[in-house]
Amino acid sequence: MSYLWRMNWSERDHRHIWHPYTQMQTAAPALAVLRGAGSRLYLEDGRSLIDGISSWWVTVHGHGHPHIAAAIGAQAHELEQVIFAGFTHPQAIRLAERLLRLLPAGMDRIFYSDNGSTAVEVAMKMAWQYWHNQGQPRKRILALENAYHGDTFGAMASSGRSVFTKSFDSLLFDVVHLPSPADSPEKTLAALALELESGEVAMLIVEPLVQGAGGMCMYSAETLDQMTRMAQAAGIPVIFDEVMTGFYRTGKAFAAAHCQHPPDIMCLSKGLTGGFMPLAVTACTARIYDAFLSDDRAKMLFHGHSFTANALGCAAANASLDLFESPATQAGIQRLCASIQEIGQRLSACQQVKNLRQTGTILAFDLPSNHKGYLNPVSARLRDHMLAAGVLLRPLGEVVYLLPPYCITEAELETIAAALIAFLETES
Ligand code: PMP
Repeated sequence: MSYLWRMNWSERDHRHIWHPYTQMQTAAPALAVLRGAGSRLYLEDGRSLIDGISSWWVTVHGHGHPHIAAAIGAQAHELEQVIFAGFTHPQAIRLAERLLRLLPAGMDRIFYSDNGSTAVEVAMKMAWQYWHNQGQPRKRILALENAYHGDTFGAMASSGRSVFTKSFDSLLFDVVHLPSPADSPEKTLAALALELESGEVAMLIVEPLVQGAGGMCMYSAETLDQMTRMAQAAGIPVIFDEVMTGFYRTGKAFAAAHCQHPPDIMCLSKGLTGGFMPLAVTACTARIYDAFLSDDRAKMLFHGHSFTANALGCAAANASLDLFESPATQAGIQRLCASIQEIGQRLSACQQVKNLRQTGTILAFDLPSNHKGYLNPVSARLRDHMLAAGVLLRPLGEVVYLLPPYCITEAELETIAAALIAFLETES
């Protein structure tokens, strides 16, 4: 192992580690981050980067927030983890109570898991078994074209068919994908109405207001309300996957808070722990939960993970909720929504900026391109340009977006905007 001392972290990583969503043959070695604070990531080569995408949309209060770090440390000295079947702990209980006060009216039960994909798996299993337990199994699952719900098989099945799922398509169970409301709300509603007539529909799952990994495609709360209302009128459980939109990403606590009609089931992860720990929640109404209550043990929800309700994760989430309760955090979120809007106005003056859109703290636009999709090479060009300017952005093909931590400063936003405008000028 004597050669190791001559290599830096990045080189040592490159010898042994397989990174997600990375073509290992052609990708540059991963940048080693030694420290994070606020919106900044500090690299081993001495540079720092502004994290313009909250490290895959999780870091809501900024990196290394001392309040969350201290809460995890304190919890680690008390209890780090305990089996969650037959046992519980105060952090999980407090978190459930606090979340239910924050979630839309009607949410009644909290089921814990580890990440966004598992939150979705649980939600789909809840909705599926809800029918099964009542002796009326239903076969049809409705989702949206262009959706992204995660990388496990159930989550992939409910996601739109795309380059993400292509290698696995033949393994995925049947899901009816309605036209995306971001393209044509009328077509979505018409297709939904038709599907509901079949009497076979078990659930409708959507990313509310913003379809994230599918390209930051946005649609209105009015359309979402209509979809929810129609499905619920037919008795169909509606699942809001708020893994990305949750915890003030859309300017309000949840995307559901923009709507009149709350869903039956909600999926949360990413910002839940302030981005510190892997943890997820699937929340549901009493109607869903009650369908699992029985003298018959076979009607329990057959799902659980080793790290269900991990105590460190729950402590981080409680600390994150403390921060959200502070007026300073709330003011920061509203300020960020306004600043992002101003950046949008400046960008919209650039000829290269197409289809500019914003929901709360998310700003997105498309670069003009003949070669559309996630593998569009323009994304690597933009990423490299931004890295050279000290900014982390990771476009989805030709879709460029900002999704910063809520603590980002005006000066940091200005650095991002100036670097983006410089890129657009070089490309024009
Ligand atoms: N749902 C949505 C809406 C997401 O954006 C993501 C992740 N980008 C997931 C589910 C999956 O979450 P995870 O990566 O934590 O499995």
